[in-house]
Order: sequence, then structure tokens, then C-alpha cells
Amino acid sequence: MPYPFDMSEWQSLVVENPEIPEILDMDSGETIGAAKAIGNDYSKAIQFRMELRTAIAREKPKFLCPICQVPVYLVSRKEGRRFFFRHQVEDGRCSARTRGELSEREIDARRYNGAKESRDHLRMKEIVAESIACDHRFSLPKTEETWKGAIGAWRRPDVQAKFGELRMAFEIQLSTTYIRVIAERREFYLQEGGLLIWLFKRFDDGGNRLTQDDVFYNNNRNVFLASEETLAASKAAGKLCLECRWTEPVADGGSVVLQWRRKIVSIDELTIDAERQRIYFYDFDGAVAQRSADSKIAGEETLRRRFETFWLDRAKRGRNDSRDDLVPWNGLRKAFDEVGLKLTTYPGGEGSETLLNALYSAKHGQIIGWNYKKFIEIAHRIAGGHKRYLWVFRLALAAYGRGGMILSQDQSGLWRKRVAHYRPLMDQGSSEYQPDRRFDGLIAFLFPEIADSLDKYPPPASR
Ligand SMILES: [Zn+2]
Repeated sequence: MPYPFDMSEWQSLVVENPEIPEILDMDSGETIGAAKAIGNDYSKAIQFRMELRTAIAREKPKFLCPICQVPVYLVSRKEGRRFFFRHQVEDGRCSARTRGELSEREIDARRYNGAKESRDHLRMKEIVAESIACDHRFSLPKTEETWKGAIGAWRRPDVQAKFGELRMAFEIQLSTTYIRVIAERREFYLQEGGLLIWLFKRFDDGGNRLTQDDVFYNNNRNVFLASEETLAASKAAGKLCLECRWTEPVADGGSVVLQWRRKIVSIDELTIDAERQRIYFYDFDGAVAQRSADSKIAGEETLRRRFETFWLDRAKRGRNDSRDDLVPWNGLRKAFDEVGLKLTTYPGGEGSETLLNALYSAKHGQIIGWNYKKFIEIAHRIAGGHKRYLWVFRLALAAYGRGGMILSQDQSGLWRKRVAHYRPLMDQGSSEYQPDRRFDGLIAFLFPEIADSLDKYPPPASR
């Protein structure tokens, strides 16, 4: 097998020589290289970390070590924002060794001895409790009390209260918390139909604080702080106020950069999404989706104009497609492929020539692609020889307001007669006028003004 030379793997956030070089996907039964599974997007890796831990908390692990079948989770190494997989339990059954000297419990014990519950933590709890007390919509505030779960589990959040019908838990975050703990708590409050908010005392935009990242990237890129300042704001507003930090995509020359923002916000300004355990001021995911939708719309508009320019130029030249003309056409075919539309091998192939000429003529109110003298001759041509295009042509006449022009050119009254003949047939859904559907996708793309009406044949009785 050739060496898998894939640039994205070279830039992966995996550590060098990970002990677990591959993981087994329980759903697909396939093994995935660690580099690929971790990828090169830090925010996605942090979300993946939460996903793995949540799956383990639910006792439905998604990824295993393929050697020993023990569930794995994702560890972030402090230096350099690198990741590796670690066994959930390591008891010597596997040749891969992923645990260091100190166990989690030992580290906890050390930390506990080093710094008992600090004065900071106490003050933070008071700040949160007092801020909530300012807001009469909160009820049953409690500090350091047990929250009993429905299935026997329990938690003891720093502060808890009911906001309307929603039970909320506030956890103060002063030092590192394990992703396992964060995932288990998220899961607990999710099962309870409640909402957990992590509150930080300090903000670190350097990105070295892994716990902050674990919360931030799993909370629509919003993180909250509580302080004397937010307490004063809560008192002034009579509402719970917190400091929000978030990132926003901002245009910077030709590219988009993420910028940090900060604002003291009241709870009324926040979106609560308890089902995903998210609470946020700025909808980052929504903004990104909007941005990509905007750029998609702009891209489509450019392509629409490109096709039209090609078509009008070609009609002006008299459409003798030389080899040179096929170069831009092939470029268009490729570009349309990318938006899921198949163009014909040659311009105007498969009968689309007449249709496109008729529609561009209607759009511009000019004769495009024929040597007629009057616009009405196009209408006669379509109604006489291309009945299956008449429906869409009529839609275009209506959309671009060409009805009056045709009537004004109908001195002989022949067109009126024709309309009197075909209208009842169309209204009955006559198969003679049944629209040709082969080009609907292309027409909808090129003439968005009529896209929604294309499939409305036969028209509802129109008298
Ligand atoms: Zn293993």
C-alpha cells in the first residue's frame, strides 16, 4: 500500500508517535488513524474530547483501542495544544501505555492539600448568590446544596436556583477541571432537564487554559465570568448580569479573522439551549452558517451572471460554436457541476437552445437568438412549435412584465386568438402543454424569479 500522503494528516494536532496510533469506531467497525481522528481544527478536537467523554459517561463509548477493546478518550497535552488517545482503564492488558506516573486521584489529592477551598471561591459564590437575589424571577436559590437526580445520582453545584421553570446550576471555575468531570456534569444536568453554567473568575485569551477551552468550544464559543463588576451591574439592573466573552468572525482584508469581544450582559440577552447545555450571548455557529450562506448566495449570483454573459455574447455572434467557444462552455460546465447542475455537452444542446433564448428574451424584453423583427414573433414561435416550453415562457413573461408589450404588438389579434385557444387547455392540464421538465433545475437557477412556479402546472383555475 502506498504511504498515505495527506496534507491534513501532516498538520494534525496529534502528538508525535502516539501510544494509541489508531482507534476503532464502534459504529462503522473501521479503524481510524489518530492523526485523522484528531484532525487539524483545535475547536473540533475540543468538541470531540467532550463527545468521547460524554459517550463514556452514558456508558455507550464510541471509540475503542483496537488492540484491547478498551474505550478511549482524548487527552490534551499542555504544551503546544496537542492531543492523544488514552485508555479509559489501563491495567496492563494492552501493550499501549497511555497513563503517566500520577493517577487522577493522586493529582487531586495533591491539589487539595495545596489549596483548600480558597477565599476567592467563597467570594465568587457570594457574588453569584447575591446577583441572583437581585433578580426576582429567580426562586429557591441555594448555595452548596445537593441536587438529587431522578435516577439516584446527585450533584452539589456551588449555587442553584430556578429561573422561571428552568432549574439552573452555577459552577465556579477557578482551577483546572477534568474533561471527565465537565462531561459528567453536563450529562447530569441534561438528564435533569436543567442547565449548568460555568463561571470563571479570570479570562485567558491566550488559549492556555484547557478547562476554559473545554467549556468555551462546547458552548457556542461563549464563556461567562462573574466579578464585583457584574454584581454591581446586577444590582443596578435588578437582573442577573454576567460578563460574556466570545469570538466573532470579522472580515479583515480578504480573509476572516476571529476577534474576542467582551460585554456585561443580563440574562435576558442570552439564548438558553438546555437540550445542548448551551447558554450564549453571541450565536457563533449561527453567524458562521449565515456567513457561508451569504457567500454561497454571492457565488451563485456570480455564476448566474457568468452564464448569462456567455449566452448573450454567443447569441450576438450568431452561435456558431467554434472550438474557442467551447472553452468557456466547458468552464461553465465544471462550475455548474459544483452546484449540482449538469449542463449539456454543447451550448444549447438537447433542445435547450430555444428555451434559453426565449427566457433571456423575456428577461431583457429584447429578441435574443433569433432574427425576428418583433418580440411577439417569439411568442408565436413558442406557442406554435414548442408547446412544452409555453408554460415556463409565460411564467417569464409575467415575472418580467412583458405581457403589455406582446399585446401592443398584436395588431392582427392573432395572439389573442391563440391565447383563447390554449388557455382552457392549459387550465385542464392538457398533456400537449405539459412542461418539459429536463431543464427545471437549470431554469430555476438561472431565473430565480420563476423558480417557485415551475412545478405549478396546471395552474389553479384562473378566471
Ligand atoms: Zn489498548
